[in-house]
Amino acid sequence: MTKENIAIIGAGPGGLTLARILQQAGYKPTIFEGDPSATYRNQGGTLDLSTEMGQKALKRAGLMDKFKQLCRYEGQAIKIMDKSGNIYVEETATEFDRPEIDRATLQNMLLESVNSDSIYWGYKLEYINELENNQFELKFKNEESVIVDMVIGADGAFSKVRPLVSDAVPEYSGLSMIEVNTLNVKEKHKDLLELNGPGSFFGLGDQKGILAQVNGNNTIRTYVSFKIEKDWLHNNGINYENREETKNKLIDEFSDWNPELHKFISYGDGEIFPRRIYELPIGHKWNHKKGVTLIGDSAHLMSPFSGSGANLALLDASELALKIIENNNLDEEVIQYEEKMFKYAKDTAEQTKQILDLCFNDKAAKNFSNMFSNFKNG
Ligand SMILES: Cc1cc2nc3c(=O)[nH]c(=O)nc-3n(C[C@H](O)[C@H](O)[C@H](O)COP(=O)(O)OP(=O)(O)OC[C@H]3O[C@@H](n4cnc5c(N)ncnc54)[C@H](O)[C@@H]3O)c2cc1C
Repeated sequence: MTKENIAIIGAGPGGLTLARILQQAGYKPTIFEGDPSATYRNQGGTLDLSTEMGQKALKRAGLMDKFKQLCRYEGQAIKIMDKSGNIYVEETATEFDRPEIDRATLQNMLLESVNSDSIYWGYKLEYINELENNQFELKFKNEESVIVDMVIGADGAFSKVRPLVSDAVPEYSGLSMIEVNTLNVKEKHKDLLELNGPGSFFGLGDQKGILAQVNGNNTIRTYVSFKIEKDWLHNNGINYENREETKNKLIDEFSDWNPELHKFISYGDGEIFPRRIYELPIGHKWNHKKGVTLIGDSAHLMSPFSGSGANLALLDASELALKIIENNNLDEEVIQYEEKMFKYAKDTAEQTKQILDLCFNDKAAKNFSNMFSNFKNG
C-alpha cells in the first residue's frame, strides 16, 4: 500500500484525529465527509476528554497545548438532584482530569490541524464495491467514485463502511431525549445557571431525567430524557416545530417535579431536537478483513452515559494511526489494533450500560450518587 491511497470516511473527531497523526508521519490519507461543509449543521454539545483516552490521543497528535487553551476545567462540576429538588451531589472541584470542550470547538481545532485539501466535503458514501485485486471502489451520493487500497470507517452510528465487516446494526437503547437549548444564560438566566452549576446537572427520578450541561457558547443544553418505547418520540402528539407547545407538553410530563426544575424547559429559547439513543451490541467485533477497519461510533456506538463516545473515537484513531505508521505488516498491525480496541470498547460499553441503568431506575438520584462517590473515592 502506498502512503496516499487510504480513505477515511467521516470528518468527525475520530476521522480527523486519525488524519492528523497520519499526516504528521508523511501519509496522505483522503477524508470523505458527507456534510457539505463544517458549519452545515449544529455540531452538538459539550464533551469531556479523559487523560487515559481523549487527551492521550491529542498528546499523540501534538495538540495538547491547543486543547488546554480551549477546554473548560470548571465544566467538570457535577450536581445530582432528585425530582423533589433534594441535592445528592454537588461537586465544583476540578480534581478530576476530564475537562470539557464543545464538540464544535474540538472539531474546529482538529480541522485546523489537518491539510484542508485532504478533506472532500459533500462526499456521502453510499456503498462500497470490493474489487478482485483487493482494492475498494467507494460510491458516493454525488455520483463520484474513487478506488482505494484501504478504507477506514469513521462515519459514526450509521456507518456505511461497517457492512463490509459486520452485520450488526444499531438498536434502540430504550432511551429518548428531547434537547432544549437556553441561550445567553449568563445575561438572561443567572438563576438557571446557579441551579445547574458550572458543569453537568442530573435531575433524576421516575425513569425520567432532566440532564443539562453548560456549553462554552453561553448556552445550557438540556436533554429531557425518557426511558420509553421507541415510537413514543413521534407518537406523543408533540409538534417539535412549535417551541412553546413542546415546552408546555414536556413540563406536563414533569408536573409532579419541583417547579424549579421546570426552568430547564420553560426558559428554552433555542433549537429543540428530538433524539433517539441507539447502541451497537456490547462487545461488537468482527473477523479482520484486509484493507478495512472501523474507528469510533462506527465500531462501538454506545449511549452517552459514560461520556465515552468522543474519548473512544480519539483513542481508536491514535491507536490505529500508530499501528499503520509501524507498517511492518499492515494487516498484522491492523489486527493488533482491532484486538486491543475490541477489549477496551467492550469494557467501556459495559460500564456505560451500568450507568444508564442506574440513571433510570426507581432510586436513580441516590444510586447514581453512590456510584459517583465510589468512583471518586477510588
Ligand atoms: C452532529 C453531531 C453532534 C453530536 N453531538 C454530540 C453531543 O452533543 N454530545 C455527545 O456526547 N455526543 C455527540 N455526538 C456524538 C459524538 O460526537 C460521537 O460519539 C463521537 O465524537 C464519536 O466520534 P466519531 O468520529 O466516531 O463519529 P461522529 O462524531 O458521529 O462523526 C462521524 C462523521 O462522519 C460523517 N458521516 C456519516 N455518514 C457518512 C457517510 N455515509 N459518508 C461520509 N461521511 C459520513 C458525519 O457527518 C460525521 O462528520 C455528535 C455527533 C454528531 C455527528
